[in-house]
Amino acid sequence: MAERHLRFAIIGAGMAGILSAIKLTESGLTDFTVYEKGDRVGGTWRENSYPGLSCDVPSQLYCFSFAPNPDWTHPYSPGLEIQQYFERVAESYGVADRARFNDEVVRCEWLDSRWHLTTHDGHTDVVDVVISATGVLHHPKWPDIAGLDSFEGRVFHSARWDHDAVLDDARVGIVGSGSTGVQIIAAIHERVAHLASFQRTPQWVMPMSNEAFVPQQLEAHRDLDYLRATHSKLGELFGRFTNAVIDAASPESHMIGEMCRSNLEANVTDPALRERLRPDYQAACKRLIISENYYQAMQHPNVELVTDEIANVESNGVRTADGVLHELDVLVLATGFHADWFMRPMQIVGTHGVTLDEAWAQRPLAYLSMTLPDFPNFFMLNGPNGPVGNFSLISVAELQFAYIEQLIARLRAGDALEIAPDRATTEQFEATRVEAAQRTVWMTGCTSWYLDDRGVPATWPWPWDRFLDVMAAPQWSAYNLTEL
Ligand code: NAP
Repeated sequence: MAERHLRFAIIGAGMAGILSAIKLTESGLTDFTVYEKGDRVGGTWRENSYPGLSCDVPSQLYCFSFAPNPDWTHPYSPGLEIQQYFERVAESYGVADRARFNDEVVRCEWLDSRWHLTTHDGHTDVVDVVISATGVLHHPKWPDIAGLDSFEGRVFHSARWDHDAVLDDARVGIVGSGSTGVQIIAAIHERVAHLASFQRTPQWVMPMSNEAFVPQQLEAHRDLDYLRATHSKLGELFGRFTNAVIDAASPESHMIGEMCRSNLEANVTDPALRERLRPDYQAACKRLIISENYYQAMQHPNVELVTDEIANVESNGVRTADGVLHELDVLVLATGFHADWFMRPMQIVGTHGVTLDEAWAQRPLAYLSMTLPDFPNFFMLNGPNGPVGNFSLISVAELQFAYIEQLIARLRAGDALEIAPDRATTEQFEATRVEAAQRTVWMTGCTSWYLDDRGVPATWPWPWDRFLDVMAAPQWSAYNLTEL
């Protein structure tokens, strides 16, 4: 049978969208458009530009396996370098030429076995396959704090950094002490007149040196074989780390706890401050913080740790429950993201008029985080319940794409007009996932963005090796294939 021509829409030009465009082109599937609401590629690395932004996955692992980068300047890359890396890769593979920027897809409807897309500007497209590469942590969570609107200084979310806000010699408040808040505090505390860190829950911190690479190291990175070997060695290491988070009772998990505890004991000298910074839950229950200088920053004379609950915001500062008004010029909300929104608010209508909002009325559900019953030929990268430990989402997306390519191959070969996972299989997979999640560190008694409304972590709860095995080839019995 002649090969079937397929048209694709890739939604999102972040890491996973760039990957999809490159991989489709390499397979000779060149009839596609990349839709991007922003003005450039880069996704999360375009949207986040706060001071201190860097990645907590090692640089040599946080890049495409097929595009190693000899130019990383640090073991953990600064955000701007990562953004520039993605721009460079996208440019060299011609991805930007295939993208429609500044126009958001607002609707995707399955009609007559094809997806009908409409953008914000009214542009329409009809495609056989949608690849949703819309990212995970990209809907900023604006906290529900009384009086926020009345603040007369500058107030903004960390993912919408206001570069006109003056930090030098200013009184700055930072709400939140997750990965983002910690990076900002470590980066700006010396520049400001006073920094108030509003901490609701302390975090465990893993110390990791991030000294810039020296010339000999940079020279060694020119050898691409060396870089590839480093990529795979780091992959193995992170695979082991994944085992630590999926088994809260494992020796690896215990070892991480000990490293964090000794970091706290050794590096915070004032016993009272140390206790206020000490979490009462197991290390890595919340996403582990990687920082070599957070504790030093918290002991700097410019910095004040505020642990009294925020009562409200007033025109000139934040008032805490003890009645104290913390006067501020700038208020940064490092308060995280709506991790369960994914491609919403895009309206997605599947077979028989079922909408994504109906399908996900309780919570996001997907088969292997990539496909959805009732939404045929709709493939997600880094979809619901996708993160594998603290593994690089790039490695996860590459493996997912290789799996999705096998689904696409059936469409391309004309074996099927439509592919969607079987509902019972999807529900069975979810039940097994929830059962396995009970042993993970994320369920040992803390709150975090990993947890869904039931308190179940929205992650892959099995070892990395199992992820590799499952991604190797689809189990075709899990899918309904509608013939041409
Ligand atoms: P987050 O981990 O969700 O942390 C949000 C922080 O804001 C928490 O400390 C939270 O306190 C606090 N918060 C939220 N609402 C609040 C309120 N109303 N009053 C007081 N405090 C409030 O968000 P994030 O720091 O942006 O990080 C999200 C994820 O992004 C990370 O876990 C990581 O996966 C990723 N990230 C990675 C890097 C990197 O290095 N690659 C950098 C930044 C972010 P509670 O803990 O009490 O809820």
